[in-house]
Amino acid sequence: MWKPQPAPFASYKKNVLARAAKVADFIYQIGETPALRQPSILVPVKEISSAEIQAKINYLQDCLRRYRRLTGYGRGITGVQVGIPERISVIFTADMEIITIINPKITKRSSKHYKYPEICMSANPIIAPVSRPAWIEFSYHDEKGSLKHWKTKDDTDAGRIMNRVFQNEIDHMEGIINIDKVAHPKELILESDPKFYENAGFEEV
Ligand SMILES: [Zn+2]
Repeated sequence: MWKPQPAPFASYKKNVLARAAKVADFIYQIGETPALRQPSILVPVKEISSAEIQAKINYLQDCLRRYRRLTGYGRGITGVQVGIPERISVIFTADMEIITIINPKITKRSSKHYKYPEICMSANPIIAPVSRPAWIEFSYHDEKGSLKHWKTKDDTDAGRIMNRVFQNEIDHMEGIINIDKVAHPKELILESDPKFYENAGFEEV
């Protein structure tokens, strides 16, 4: 005799959706604003020290800390994800310090690529397996307006994740979301299996 079968992972899935609900009032998600799909605007370097840009940087940093506090997740936020049109990202380093990246320009990409299942705050809880260069080099301005270069080629898991966060955030400045970069839409899944990330890793492609 046929009986209805409950959907898999129901209790964990409810946790995942409850986590997403906690940040619903400050994170913009796909489909909610055309800005997420448009290039962000350059910050004139001499305006980085202005009250307006400093207020936007502080707000971004607050949002990143708040996201982390509410969900236990989240490594980086870019302006466009919280209603700020300028090319500014704030990112947790592996030591959980926040760095601010303004007007980044990628200067080099590794030929080695890894595929890894990513979750973006603006498409959470979709898991998107994305192939990206193992590392990039880029120049940027920090929150004081100083010109800096990132060129750490750390091929540990922590280094690979760091480089991936940078690429995810820099993509946001071009209006690109990680779900746009999957090889096939069939690869997109929702986070619901609690063991998913136990088995996930970096796959050289
Ligand atoms: Zn993202």
